[in-house]
Amino acid sequence: MDLGISGRKAIVCGASAGLGRGTARALALDGVEVLIVARDPERLARAAAELAAETGHPVAHLAADVTTEGGREAVLAACPDPDILINNAGGPPVGDFREWDRETWIKALDANMLSAIFFMRAVIDGMIARRFGRIVNITSYMVKAPVAFLGLSNGARAGLTGFVGGLSRDVAPHGVTINNVLPGQFDTDRLRGNHQRQAEASGRDFDTVRAQAIRAIPAGRLGTPEEFGAMCAFLCSTHAGFITGQNILLDGGQVQGLL
Ligand code: NAP
Repeated sequence: MDLGISGRKAIVCGASAGLGRGTARALALDGVEVLIVARDPERLARAAAELAAETGHPVAHLAADVTTEGGREAVLAACPDPDILINNAGGPPVGDFREWDRETWIKALDANMLSAIFFMRAVIDGMIARRFGRIVNITSYMVKAPVAFLGLSNGARAGLTGFVGGLSRDVAPHGVTINNVLPGQFDTDRLRGNHQRQAEASGRDFDTVRAQAIRAIPAGRLGTPEEFGAMCAFLCSTHAGFITGQNILLDGGQVQGLL
């Protein structure tokens, strides 16, 4: 399917690996001019070169920490008028809420709530003026099915979700859509790290923890960054102009619920 967005400009945050990279790949495959952002400059440059070779389209890159004001300013200087914004950053640490002080909470809010809000604030009026905009926030299935050890993530992402619920309706008359995509368990560095920590904490080995995690997924497997990226790219397409303010779960059926 032609997504109808060839030549559009996109900022994809957190895109040297995992779900952000999968999204950058899907957008570039459709001819979008993609700028990928992550902190580690070497891994980022490698990802940009690999994505360009894989998709046949140039992929620009900028090393920045999107949780800082300076990082966001650098990204916006490199791409001041994006048609597409994919908000994404690393997830916060897991643990026991008794151990999380104010500083830990502020870091989680910066990464998984405020950075997305400040990026939206910076680009949305330009999108409104051009009468086209697509914003996708990568959140988590934990928004619908929270568990205590991911409390920092649940709290910050639920805040972003509530905020987007209002803003998405406000900008809908102007051709701008905002949606959140909620990954279940996808085979990325982040998930492998979480499984490793759970293994260490419970005295089990990594493969046992991973197999148990997969048993909880009715599809019987982990998701791939490519299929995650395909959904994000569709939401950025011209065909998805009537989808806004939604929380779209990609989880292989893991979350038990109808709505
Ligand atoms: P990942 O494999 O660890 O990749 C994260 C990417 O974001 C990397 O490119 C990383 O590069 C970049 N990044 C991290 N912090 C950043 C920052 N402050 N500024 C700019 N770039 C940053 O993670 P993932 O699995 O794709 O997960 C993406 C998001 O989805 C996370 O918030 C995660 O919690 C959430 N999620 C994932 C799953 C899953 O199953 N994978 C499930 C639920 C929710 P640098 O480190 O070099 O910056």
